[in-house]
Amino acid sequence: MRLQYSIEACAEIFEAEVVGSSIDSILHVYFDSRKIQQAKGALFFALSGHSRSGNEFIEDAYRQGICFFVIAKNTTVTFQPDAVYFKVDDVLNALQKLAKHHRKQFTYPVVAITGSVGKTTFKEWIFHCISDKFKVVRSPKSFNSQIGVALSLLEMHEGASIAFIEAGISKPGEMKILQDMIQPDYGIFTAFGKAHRENFANNEAHLLEKWVLFRNCRLAFIPHTFADLENRLPGNFQVCPSYENHRFPAGYNGMLGVLKTFLAYLQLDPVEIKERMDSLPTLALRMEVFEGINGNTIINDTYNLDLDALGEALIYQRQLAPEKKRIVVIGLSEKHLHEKLEIEKLIQSFNPDEFHFIPEGKSIPWENFHNAVVLVKAHRDRAFEYEVARGKALKHRTIVEINLSAIKRNISFYQSRLPKDVKILAMVKASSYGSGADKVAPFLQQSGIRNFGVAFADEGVELRKAGIGVSSSIVVMNPDPEHSDLIIEYRLEPAIYSFEQLDEFITALIHRNISAYPIHLKFDTGMHRLGFAPADKERVLAVINSQPEVQIKGIYSHLADADNPNHSAFTQKQLAAFDAIVSYFRKNSPDAFLAHVLNSEGSLRYPENCYDMIRLGISMYGYTENQELKASLESSVSWYSSISQIKAVPKGDFIGYGISYEAMEDMMIAIVPVGYADGFRRSLSNGKGSVYIHGIQCPVVGRVCMDMIMVDITSVNAKINDTVEIIGQNQPMDVFAKAMDTIPYEVMTGLSRRMHRVYVEE
Ligand SMILES: *Cc1c(COP(=O)(O)O)cnc(C)c1O
Repeated sequence: MRLQYSIEACAEIFEAEVVGSSIDSILHVYFDSRKIQQAKGALFFALSGHSRSGNEFIEDAYRQGICFFVIAKNTTVTFQPDAVYFKVDDVLNALQKLAKHHRKQFTYPVVAITGSVGKTTFKEWIFHCISDKFKVVRSPKSFNSQIGVALSLLEMHEGASIAFIEAGISKPGEMKILQDMIQPDYGIFTAFGKAHRENFANNEAHLLEKWVLFRNCRLAFIPHTFADLENRLPGNFQVCPSYENHRFPAGYNGMLGVLKTFLAYLQLDPVEIKERMDSLPTLALRMEVFEGINGNTIINDTYNLDLDALGEALIYQRQLAPEKKRIVVIGLSEKHLHEKLEIEKLIQSFNPDEFHFIPEGKSIPWENFHNAVVLVKAHRDRAFEYEVARGKALKHRTIVEINLSAIKRNISFYQSRLPKDVKILAMVKASSYGSGADKVAPFLQQSGIRNFGVAFADEGVELRKAGIGVSSSIVVMNPDPEHSDLIIEYRLEPAIYSFEQLDEFITALIHRNISAYPIHLKFDTGMHRLGFAPADKERVLAVINSQPEVQIKGIYSHLADADNPNHSAFTQKQLAAFDAIVSYFRKNSPDAFLAHVLNSEGSLRYPENCYDMIRLGISMYGYTENQELKASLESSVSWYSSISQIKAVPKGDFIGYGISYEAMEDMMIAIVPVGYADGFRRSLSNGKGSVYIHGIQCPVVGRVCMDMIMVDITSVNAKINDTVEIIGQNQPMDVFAKAMDTIPYEVMTGLSRRMHRVYVEE
């Protein structure tokens, strides 16, 4: 505010009785003691409002150093010796008198903006269009009420060349006061909420009430939607043709037309007008639109709740997706309860499908909203953001996508090649090779798989909890003795590989008085990992035959190099050793067990050795070293991220930790939020690894960080948020694995748990 009024001048303007005196000037005004920033030269208007009486705040303001007060005549206050008091009949009226007086000091044009919606937007638009040609004074924020207009006018100053003042009314009769204060030279009528026009019987009266503002204007600009009222409006006005801008909903065409006509009136040339109108700030000045849960679209505008802004938001909501259901949610704080009726009236005039007032401390019932456009409005002072966030669909920048249908097709492919009646045990250890056992295993069960393999007991427990029922068998390959309780409780089946372990497990069963518990025997036929030696077979059988607590459900071994045809002689030796063991048990054990020895690769190369079951791991997920059969399998894992930021790096600058990469030319880089903590290994630094953006290879530049990489996008036309493929069509799993000097198994199981898994079924 750039005021300078003496005490005497003010006394005359207010027609006030003055108590006290001062030679200091009044430089600015306040009416809310909580918002005092500069006490020197401040005049405090002791207004009484809805929730407070001005008088209570006089002392507070005085304590903060304010010495000039405008008070109602009947107020009892203790007059401070160093303060000055203007006693008036009506404090608000005094403020308005000061504003009116101040406005009259200036001869540059004053433009009043009114309309039931769109005032603030229009004011921002016009500022955008002309602020380089005119020195503009405009109402701060959406100050358009009886007090706000006065404060706006007090912003006028010598240096300006045009003023835009918003005027809004809530009661009949108010516009006359505003008109008297503003005395506009020009008028802008933004819009008359279409809904109002439909729903208010006396809408013409309502319009005429607003029209009072323009009665002495040189010229008022009104949208084409009022063409039908043309003959009934007094004064000078111009009906402006509508104007389309694809960035705004059709509801804005009227306002855009007014803006265009007004700019022409201000003598901007047509090229300039077009250029400015094409770059108008969108009304999402503060409205945020995002995807919600349950297919909802959420318009979040928890910035303020003034009626003007609410009206705009309601129009916007209607335009956004006209075919969708509309739900309005209002977060109403205690402090603003008195506004409820007015808000409700405005919302009802827009006829939404539902509307909800959410009182302080209550939650938005997101679970009841489906496929709707949900407009959420609240006062800024309310902690409503959290409530809104609850309705938001979680978006993850970096995701691992698992194609369940591909897994199913891979299994079918195996089934088609296997001899009839050979079962498949699905290996879902290490959380289904990193793809998420809680989702993949139940899917496999649905697809008919009844045998699962995990490494540890707790992985088996996870499967049971995810819904793998006891009609499915879960083999625990590396059971710890201390997990016997868990194994028994969850009906998991341990693989037994040593006499101590066999002994301990039988003891656990004896304590629980359980008999005929299914176990699997693991033999080491040459790999020299876990397992009984083939020579142990007689002793193993003797123990088991003498213990009713256990029965043999399976006998298996594991091949060391099933995928390497150069080592098939070694594999044949392993297979022969296994065959001897199986024959021995078939002959000497009463138990009808399943024999199995082949993993994914083995099943493709040695189908004649399937026995009763194969243990399918990596190929179920779509990967193999077998070049002839590779094309028959389908990759089930993709890995995507998106660009967080794009940067130009000038020639000679360095990128990343250790300044290990120097830009040899000017280049563009993208920052992608994936790092070695996610399984994108550090060894991929500086060109060893790449990602693909729009199908173009983008090498890593600089070192891989824990959570981020930088990639060269100089030859890609990329934008922020564009998809980054790490594993997918362009960079298949095995190519990526090779770049890290490893195999798909390690890539898959190294994908960090923190990344979101997305499951697709076609
Ligand atoms: C992991 C595992 C498999 C599965 O091997 P793939 O090569 O992934 O098919 C089979 N058997 C045992 C004992 C395993 O540990």
